Amino acid sequence: MTEPAYDYDLFVIGAGSGGVRASRIAAGYGARVAVAEEYRVGGTCVIRGCVPKKLLVYGSHFAEELQDAANYGWTVEKMTFDWPTLRDAVAKDVDRLNAAYTNTLNSNKVEHFLERATITGPNSVKLASGREISARYILVAVGAWPVMPPFEGAEHCITSNEVFSLEKLPRRVVIAGAGYIALEFAGIFNALGSHVTVVNRSETILRGYDAALRDRLLQITMARGIEYKFNCGIERVERLEDGCLNVHMKGQPDPLGADAVLVATGRRPKTDGLGLENAGIELGEHGEIRVDDTAQTSCPSIFAVGDVTNRVQLTPIAIREGHAFADRVFGGKDTRVAYDCIPSAVFSQPPLASVGLTEAQAREMLGSNVKVFTSDFRPMKNIFAHRHERGLYKLVVDAQTDKVLGVHLIGPEAPEVLQAAAIAVKAGLTKADFDATVALHPSMAEELVLMR
Ligand code: NDP
Repeated sequence: MTEPAYDYDLFVIGAGSGGVRASRIAAGYGARVAVAEEYRVGGTCVIRGCVPKKLLVYGSHFAEELQDAANYGWTVEKMTFDWPTLRDAVAKDVDRLNAAYTNTLNSNKVEHFLERATITGPNSVKLASGREISARYILVAVGAWPVMPPFEGAEHCITSNEVFSLEKLPRRVVIAGAGYIALEFAGIFNALGSHVTVVNRSETILRGYDAALRDRLLQITMARGIEYKFNCGIERVERLEDGCLNVHMKGQPDPLGADAVLVATGRRPKTDGLGLENAGIELGEHGEIRVDDTAQTSCPSIFAVGDVTNRVQLTPIAIREGHAFADRVFGGKDTRVAYDCIPSAVFSQPPLASVGLTEAQAREMLGSNVKVFTSDFRPMKNIFAHRHERGLYKLVVDAQTDKVLGVHLIGPEAPEVLQAAAIAVKAGLTKADFDATVALHPSMAEELVLMR
């Protein structure tokens, strides 16, 4: 398959979710593939994102479970928590996954270079060690990187890259931003006993999610002790002699004391210094690589998938984009990624999960032809634990066709429930189909088919 002029059929830059999937599928079609990775094989999701974050969510959730255990007859003598134990166990699991991803590359005969690669032309890259490599196609899958706003003292702050390796559990945490990362870590630190203050530039948390769910999360997390400062930005962070931090905010006379400041104000495509200009690759206004619906950039031999294209910054999408690319370019199949009905979840405490149109989006599209069904319930486990937190499930339905356009859930295990509901929305099922489905009792998920 290799034309003699090229060292490889495919050279992939970035061994994250999209890059690894594309590499192994292309290799499976017989392509000679190499991948360069400057940090660790696995990428953001595996190394410093979804996976270690979810393990911290599990770890922190024990606080609630152990508290509730007494109602079920358990005596928990002395409840203590040791951050280094959890941190190191998570790091060990990340090592395991790093090795598993490396094995995947090896077993698919994908050569890998653990060093940075930059593009030097439409068919060439240069490794940090100086080696020049040619390839018929290049795939850029380098992901995104946390944005650090340029305030004074930003060097004293951490991002989601560093949060997994904190030496000590901070007693007081200030979190800038109110998106996915901010609210997931607010939940983790709050459950572990830290005092958490979320500082956001607007008064909206989790922009893009259904307003009813956002309100419910705000209400519950405030009751759990998380403080919010809205319409507010960090002006400067200073480190005091005792090592503590003072966070000065615009328009606020008194600084907030903190032991850690986590900045989670979005992630930007990691295109700096990649040599894209050497191949005439066009960027969009947020620094993202512009691609068409086949992931092709403005340079015909170079493609891009995943967060670097800033379409949907979610792992399963990067994986699908990488797979579709390999299918098309090396497998002769016209696979395309469908961007409708993408389920997503925020692993806040409680978590929320969503697929399809929010009520506001549906009303904007269909005006008054929208029906909304809600179930506002107190989960059985919360009643038994004397917790007053309520779950909220919401269906958004097209009043003319009866199609369920959106499912929005907040409550224990909401992401687990939502994945199955997403199948129904993707399949275009109607509210009547939901109604015709027998409830699975007793469960929280049964609320999905009991809304009238
Ligand atoms: P988000 O885009 O989710 O949230 C960014 C937050 O920062 C918002 O509250 C926003 O405010 C605020 N913000 C944005 N720009 C600035 C700025 N210049 N100065 C101050 N505040 C600002 O970003 P995250 O960093 O939390 O996450 C990045 C992406 O990673 C997510 O979009 C998601 O795709 C992915 N991710 C997914 C997860 C999951 O699936 N569970 C988990 C973690 C990350 P406002 O909204 O008020 O404008």
